[in-house]
Amino acid sequence: MLPFKLVYSDDYYLPIGAHVFPAEKYRLVHRRLLESGMAEPADFVEPKPASDEDVLLVHTREYVQKLKTGTLSHMEELQMEVPYSPELVKAFWLAAGGSILAAELALRDGAAFNIGGGFHHAFPDHGEGFCVVHDVAVAIKRMHKEGKITRAMTVDLDVHDGNGTAAIFPPKKKTGSPLPSAGAVRHDLQRSGSAGLETLDASDGELEVFTISLHQAHNYPAVKPPSSIDVHLPDGTHDHEYLGWLDQALSSAFRQFEPELLCYIAGADPYKEDQLGGLALTIEGLKKRDELVLRVAKERNVPVMVTYAGGYAHKVTDTVIIHCNTVQAAKELYSAPESK
Ligand SMILES: [Zn+2]
Repeated sequence: MLPFKLVYSDDYYLPIGAHVFPAEKYRLVHRRLLESGMAEPADFVEPKPASDEDVLLVHTREYVQKLKTGTLSHMEELQMEVPYSPELVKAFWLAAGGSILAAELALRDGAAFNIGGGFHHAFPDHGEGFCVVHDVAVAIKRMHKEGKITRAMTVDLDVHDGNGTAAIFPPKKKTGSPLPSAGAVRHDLQRSGSAGLETLDASDGELEVFTISLHQAHNYPAVKPPSSIDVHLPDGTHDHEYLGWLDQALSSAFRQFEPELLCYIAGADPYKEDQLGGLALTIEGLKKRDELVLRVAKERNVPVMVTYAGGYAHKVTDTVIIHCNTVQAAKELYSAPESK
């Protein structure tokens, strides 16, 4: 039995037909986790769909109305890059419900996975890049509404910039000076430097979200609104450089911000064989990436909720292995006897 829960439903499957997005990956991950013995049936919990009220914590009433009544414009549907159907909307409401449940369970158990979600390109008033509802933002806002958190951190390691997340949770202010950018094309560790730890407690219950995004500079989306920390990686970045940047970004983030919940968006698409990515991480490097994020959170006793986001490897099995390895990394870390 795992020391954390895996939120999953067979209905995460996205009804989008033949598509570069492998809609069946959730079912394949579920099956592999069970068949490999990494997880057992009792480790899984079924989500309920988010309520409209939950979705409205992030999205505009007009957009929600269009989704529910099938009245998106042709342009809006094109921008979503997945074909509209009422079933599609249901699947996204369910993914958002899954992230809400994963956030609740993470706060209870220290960690939890949504075996789905991570739809970081969704904006309040429109969908983009296969993302219709921003499940992670919905979960954060719902936890805040319930008074469970006031400070959340998103760590977005999908190969694509989390433009929706940055638009929903724009950085509050900039402090300090950027760190040197050895190797990176453009690198804005904007809030780092010698300013020291900011105390954000004076905000009186107001939600504070600190966003980190490591992504390929020359890739979708063309416009990348600023996160609290952005690392714009050059094409072909390998494991070693990637892990160095990640370590630095996490250290900088935790010097500035103490989250009560860390939302890890664990995209599988920084993989070297990805069809929509241009970085060069190996499967082993991606597991090290997972270990690094999870270890940093665990050492600081910050609950972590994991979502999956993208993954478009030429061989879908590789995407499935990468996603399962994130569970394995957490299993090894959270099952280990307490040291120090
Ligand atoms: Zn992606």
